[in-house]
Amino acid sequence: MNGKENPNPVRTSLWRNARLATLREELGPLGVIENGAIAARGERIVYAGLEAGLPPELARADQIFDCEGRWVTPALIDCHTHIVHGGNRAREFQLRLEGATYEEIARAGGGIASTVEATNALSVDALVEAALPRLDALLAEGVSTVEIKSGYGLNVETELKMLRAARRLENLRPVRIVTTYLAVHATPPEYRGRNGDYIAEVVLPGLAAAHAEGLADAVDGFCEGIAFSPAEIGLVFDKAKSLGLPVKLHAEQLSDLGGAKLAASYGALSADHLEYLDAAGAAAMARAGTVAVLLPGAFYTLREKQLPPVEALRETGTRIAIATDCNPGTSPLTSLLLTMNMSATLFRLTLEECLAGVTREAARALGILGETGTIEAGKSADLAIWNIDQPAELIYRIGFNPLRERIFKGERILR
Ligand SMILES: [Zn+2]
Repeated sequence: MNGKENPNPVRTSLWRNARLATLREELGPLGVIENGAIAARGERIVYAGLEAGLPPELARADQIFDCEGRWVTPALIDCHTHIVHGGNRAREFQLRLEGATYEEIARAGGGIASTVEATNALSVDALVEAALPRLDALLAEGVSTVEIKSGYGLNVETELKMLRAARRLENLRPVRIVTTYLAVHATPPEYRGRNGDYIAEVVLPGLAAAHAEGLADAVDGFCEGIAFSPAEIGLVFDKAKSLGLPVKLHAEQLSDLGGAKLAASYGALSADHLEYLDAAGAAAMARAGTVAVLLPGAFYTLREKQLPPVEALRETGTRIAIATDCNPGTSPLTSLLLTMNMSATLFRLTLEECLAGVTREAARALGILGETGTIEAGKSADLAIWNIDQPAELIYRIGFNPLRERIFKGERILR
């Protein structure tokens, strides 16, 4: 080193000749900038705008990529998944097609109990190995951020094991992982009829342990007649609050227990599912800034009839995100492109709502909108470059992947 040159100069990158769907709200629908360019210094975007307005020093970037007029969006974000788990429920799916009832399947050891058993049987390494193909399927479609929940351990040791596996995935792939502690997902058999004891003896000590180890970015619960009551969820949210952790909730999926209102009263990041949400619940969410995360994969798999109240969400100004809810029982879905198509077809979401739902609003639902989710200076350079002529192709096709490449923290990830 001669003292003049920086031994580790930060590399500048430039993507030029691009059509940008920045998803910046102040720029109108999709935040479109034609004839655009994006410059990054290291992993940070330092310019996103008209190529003609590019500052001269950025035009001489260390590496320059010609997008050849392609569309560039923020990298996609899956803000609600359960991709870390053991086993699968394909056999159960087959039995149901052959006429078996949920009760018969449960008696034969199926249902969530089988996933809990399979998950408890795996080591952290084996959980990682099982989750990688699911993660890779998401990343192949331009995803760069994935939220992953625990909730199939239902004891302290395995809940922590699931979160450790989720954290490890971040070291194995170019991806940002956001973890969520979800021990109040189901009551394990040894606590049947004793939810209070399960919460006191497993959920709360497990949450303290997860927090102490830095394993939980947020806390979630399943508020439903077949799961936990609002009062029981409140006990867990109180503990989360005392630890400074944000909360979110599986709410109003099968009935209206007022879960979304409860979540809003805790300033929750999101309330998810929401098929049975009423207008008052939507208003409470809007006031609290709680994002509505809609999950069409579960709606489709369960062949639900009750649509989420999209009109009430729009009228109240509640933000809408969408996600795969990838889980072995009710949404074995590993495609955000298909999730967008389902949201448009089943829930009648607009193009703008679908695309914002897997970028800007998904980032908001995870509390990381300052870091990613739109293309703008100051944020991480997380981008997806597409072989499409118009953004509507991203939600219109079924089972087709037009990703050309994705950029994560300023680095090109070629497929
Ligand atoms: Zn879920």
